[in-house]
Amino acid sequence: MALREIITLPDKRLRLVSEPVKAVDAELRRLVDDMFETMYKAPGVGLAAIQLGIAQRVVTVDTSKKDEEKAPQVFLNPEIVWSSEEKGTYEEGCLSIPEYYEEVERPERVKVRFTGLDGKTQEIEANGLLATVLQHEIDHTNGTLFIDHISKLKRDRVIKKFTKAAKREAVE
Ligand SMILES: [Zn+2]
Repeated sequence: MALREIITLPDKRLRLVSEPVKAVDAELRRLVDDMFETMYKAPGVGLAAIQLGIAQRVVTVDTSKKDEEKAPQVFLNPEIVWSSEEKGTYEEGCLSIPEYYEEVERPERVKVRFTGLDGKTQEIEANGLLATVLQHEIDHTNGTLFIDHISKLKRDRVIKKFTKAAKREAVE
């Protein structure tokens, strides 16, 4: 396993639409291992491969609490096949937009179809935190960020802030 660098706003790769995973091979397993290591280290509850600059539809999630045992979950080619009318609001953050948090309203429950590491297609129904994390990560596989769900005013402000910071770093 290896820690990998998480790309951050305004890196244009975050806007790429990721490619479907075709096979569960050694390379993919290595990517998944690295994603978990990087996600736990950050720490975060979810990660999409594009956040490591790899445009493949791979998502890792662990919504277990600190005092609970780890519960790693892998979602290959995940897609939302149903979402509830009922909405829920969570304060979201993103490892690619460090230290920025904002409330986002999304469907409270979703049904997600995905392929597991065993190559089998499965469906799960999620609610609460897991539903939010899955929607947030599936958005990443489509080049969408959680700031796309907040007001344009707030979004422009955060993009500007990160763009300025990146320019500053480039000069130093
Ligand atoms: Zn994110």
